[in-house]
Amino acid sequence: MPEMSQPRELFLHELGDILYAENMLVKTLPKLAKEATDPDLRTGFEMHLAQTRKHVENVKQVFEAMGEKATAEKCPGIDGITAEHDEFMKKEKPTPDICDLFLTGAGARAEHYEIAAYTGLVISAKALGETNAARLLEQNLAEEKEALKTLEAAAMRLSKAGAPA
Ligand code: ZN
Ligand code: FE
Repeated sequence: MPEMSQPRELFLHELGDILYAENMLVKTLPKLAKEATDPDLRTGFEMHLAQTRKHVENVKQVFEAMGEKATAEKCPGIDGITAEHDEFMKKEKPTPDICDLFLTGAGARAEHYEIAAYTGLVISAKALGETNAARLLEQNLAEEKEALKTLEAAAMRLSKAGAPA
């Protein structure tokens, strides 16, 4: 393998990372929705699943806009966030209330990861003069930020519900 020397190559690699992460989240979000008992939290995960499917399409479109084949790149970052969730559930066996609260944090960890990835990708796309790519990536970024806000609001609500009187 020759050494990577071009910002465009780095951009494409990181685009592959987020494609892998989004695909992983398409598989994970239905699991989180099933684990949630709070109806609003469950609906939130289901709504974000629909958005995440669109994110996959948008990322593929970015590859296309750049004349490249969409290629996912194994992303240990999102794998780690997923593994942390799985291990917690297995080891701690949380009650439904604690599980809901835990899921708000687990979801927020994934959103923060995606927000960091898309923020960097938008900056790079603009620097590369890829206006269409930047616009598509900004759409995804905006929805990740919304999803994070929703999770934070749920965390606040569910924490208060569980607080001693
Ligand atoms: Zn997403
Ligand atoms: Fe997300």
